[in-house]
Amino acid sequence: MSERLQAPRGTSDVLPADWPARRVVEETARRILEAAGYRRIETPVFEATELFARGVGESTDIVQKEMYTFEDMGGRSVTLRPEGTAPVCRAYLEHGMQTLAQPVKLWYLSSFFRQEKPQAGRYRQFWQIGAEAIGSDDPAVDAELVLLLHTILAEVGVRGVRLRLGSLGSPEGRLVYRGLLQDHLRAHEAELSGEVRARIDLNPLRAFDSDHPGTQRVMQSAPRLLDHLSPDDAEHFAAVRAMLDAAGVPYEVDPSLVRGMDYYTRTVFETTSDALGAQSGVGGGGRYDGLIEMLGGPPTPGNGWAAGIERILLAAEGLPAPVPVVDLFVASAKDDGREGAFALATEARRAGLAVQQELAGRSLKGQLKQADRLGARYVAILGDEGISLKDMESGEQEVVGSSSAAVARALKGRHPG
Ligand code: AMP
Repeated sequence: MSERLQAPRGTSDVLPADWPARRVVEETARRILEAAGYRRIETPVFEATELFARGVGESTDIVQKEMYTFEDMGGRSVTLRPEGTAPVCRAYLEHGMQTLAQPVKLWYLSSFFRQEKPQAGRYRQFWQIGAEAIGSDDPAVDAELVLLLHTILAEVGVRGVRLRLGSLGSPEGRLVYRGLLQDHLRAHEAELSGEVRARIDLNPLRAFDSDHPGTQRVMQSAPRLLDHLSPDDAEHFAAVRAMLDAAGVPYEVDPSLVRGMDYYTRTVFETTSDALGAQSGVGGGGRYDGLIEMLGGPPTPGNGWAAGIERILLAAEGLPAPVPVVDLFVASAKDDGREGAFALATEARRAGLAVQQELAGRSLKGQLKQADRLGARYVAILGDEGISLKDMESGEQEVVGSSSAAVARALKGRHPG
């Protein structure tokens, strides 16, 4: 026998039993986002590698270590999308959406790929719900996006949600701050982890993310970006907070909030769930006012977030698991009844019923057992004397006629309207 093959490490199948809960999450997100004017978009699963190199940033973990990048047959470097914001911004530009009324509000539900070390809640293929609002720098955009994420997580029943909010300011302000932070890191170089030390020049902000104890000690006394925002950026952040306060959205201001992509400016946010383990992030996002320009477009502000479906499912409680409804199971008591049963099942489906039919050559007894297993409400049995309808709840059975129309009439009679 050949070796039994398995799915690649860090990927998983979404099995039939997983779908009812998943569908609730997807449907809740769709309803809430579309009611707020966000329209669905789906971009290709792979993109030119350069999109992420430029958009997400050369120095990020995602681009340096986690992308599935390969050459196609034409020798072009392509990458399985590791995130959705850069592709959506590319699509915004490519389809001239800057000519529409701004902001253009888009949402997606797609799979993403990162070559991370798999663990509970961290996979190499995972699904995200995301929302992006492109073309306005109004703080109301930021507040609306945060509110929508908060509402979706609340409606789905995610437990122990915490929302952290910060501001990274504008790139110019960040450059000044970056210098201050680099000075601080260099002054404590010996206490830092090797990785952080190696990145003092390239990406000093990531030092806040380190779980290295020495680095964490050094970061406690590090200068905070929030204390060095320009007046405009500070005003923008205050406006976002005032709107969230007015909407009653609870949040904590986190001065050390950094995110894994270089494109963020001004408002950033992250939601976690206490119900999750080490991988506690449920969703996150922020403003990316320079991204579209980095992709070759005109200066265009934007903001967006993404939330992981698998993490939402792990952190939510009480998601219903409805069993599929079967209105009618079509059985046959005759050896030569197969075509008649097939025709009856087809007509009943056309009439809008959820119908299953015998597909494994069982005896009549076996067919009734199968109908019971499926939870069928009625069974139509084709016999020599016509078609009988069996009510699986009461156990009553009667001959209703010999045509599918007769079965339809009988079913209608039992369920008027
Ligand atoms: P990010 O795109 O890194 O900001 O992540 C946004 C959300 O996507 C996270 O809060 C997680 O819920 C989810 N996520 C990110 N990476 C993974 C992964 N490797 N496996 C499962 N979910 C992930």
